Amino acid sequence: MNKPRGLVIVHVDGLGHDYLLQALRQGQMPFAQYLIEHEGYEPLRYRCGLPSTTPFCQAGVLYGNNAEIPSFRWWDKESGVLVSFGGLSGFKQVEHKYFKNCEPLTRDGAAIATIFLGSAHPAYRVGYREHGRSLEGQNFSHRRVVRNWALNPIHLLDWLRRGLWQIWQANLQYWLTRWRGRPAAKMYVISDMLEEILMHQLTRFAAVQAMQENYPAIFVGFYAYDETAHAFGPDADYSFRILRHVDNTIRRIAAKRHSAREGARNYELVILSDHGQIETVPFERAYGRRFGEIVAEWLPTFEVEEHKGKRMTRRGPIDGHIVLCYSGGLAHLYWKDISWRLRHDEIQERFPGLIDKAAATPGIAFVLTREGTDNVITTEHFQVKFDGGRKLPRAARDLLARYDEPEIIARQLQKLNSFERSGDLILFGADTDHHQINFEDQVGGHGSLGGAQLFPFILAKREWKFDTANIADASDLYHPLKRLRDQLVK
Ligand SMILES: [Zn+2]
Repeated sequence: MNKPRGLVIVHVDGLGHDYLLQALRQGQMPFAQYLIEHEGYEPLRYRCGLPSTTPFCQAGVLYGNNAEIPSFRWWDKESGVLVSFGGLSGFKQVEHKYFKNCEPLTRDGAAIATIFLGSAHPAYRVGYREHGRSLEGQNFSHRRVVRNWALNPIHLLDWLRRGLWQIWQANLQYWLTRWRGRPAAKMYVISDMLEEILMHQLTRFAAVQAMQENYPAIFVGFYAYDETAHAFGPDADYSFRILRHVDNTIRRIAAKRHSAREGARNYELVILSDHGQIETVPFERAYGRRFGEIVAEWLPTFEVEEHKGKRMTRRGPIDGHIVLCYSGGLAHLYWKDISWRLRHDEIQERFPGLIDKAAATPGIAFVLTREGTDNVITTEHFQVKFDGGRKLPRAARDLLARYDEPEIIARQLQKLNSFERSGDLILFGADTDHHQINFEDQVGGHGSLGGAQLFPFILAKREWKFDTANIADASDLYHPLKRLRDQLVK
């Protein structure tokens, strides 16, 4: 009799398609190489869309719907909430607005270390943790996974051994990088590495346990590479070396695909990333001050708060508050006290000249605003409108051709600009000296457009016939994955 089958999807956060190929060439991912050479896998490139950040991309893959997710963090005017993910997630407060009538890819299955906890069986809701936030608020002690993991003393020893080794390595790399005069983002390096390793090991353990418990579809997320590439940049040797560790983890999960146990499922494996990363330079390092400080100068009667970043308070009476939400080279600017998303002409009327001033600011490539169904792009030199229906005007085509095929970028921008929860102004970091301006304090970044950040990968078997050439958004990947799941899990 045929054994029942299942699907395991391993998500390697932040690994761009080009970087995967480079890692394979360097021999940093021997198990992925083995899959390609001996099991009929091929690494396919796809387009994740905008914003190129995990909440948007993972929602796309898991639910086939990533509408109204404009950034890694954002301001929800309607609910008056700063939405973020991780430990004490603001997303919980707005979750009811999302994924109505969507069937998660992991229905009745396990979603391990994913951002969206509602997508799977409750036993496996091990949440994702935003870096630098404590595990608090995740209620870990009640999780069966953690209990089972901790019952085995070998796990604790392994965790300590790996943890101490990684801390030593990361610190060594940090000081070597600094000594060579290269930048490294400190907060990602020193802060709670043990917790990082604990998450990685727990995640792997939970994936294997979910397979042993026969869950039909399992989605499991690993974030070590993304964190490392943020700290050192995706081009750094150390970022490539972390992939060896991730590859080893995948190998250990894959080793459990076929079990001799009576009634056990045979699992098929898919490996994918959600977005890539590129080399970036923090705005503050490039221009000597934070972007929020410049905004505070444009609007001297407003208080400005950056997420993440600084808060610029005022003495005396004020006219209101500005919230800036960053995701790498992408920034959303919100007038916090105005309850709807301002249209282009409303901004012009209330704050004359502000859009032009923003577009002419060093470090800003262009500003995106909305007017009816039109998208308005403002650069230092020109302003151009486009919508989905008309032919893309020449100026827009020339500008967007820097990033990808201009029609595809235009559609991706149009989607982001259609969100009610996008900023009143959406700002894109410029490219200087082969580095994109990053509004956060990161060496490697993503969230915006340009280079590898828009091009993740999926490593799938040729026989499944994934056609990724026409995928222009992570939510388009949901359907072929769901088809595969349904084929396997009848
Ligand atoms: Zn990231």
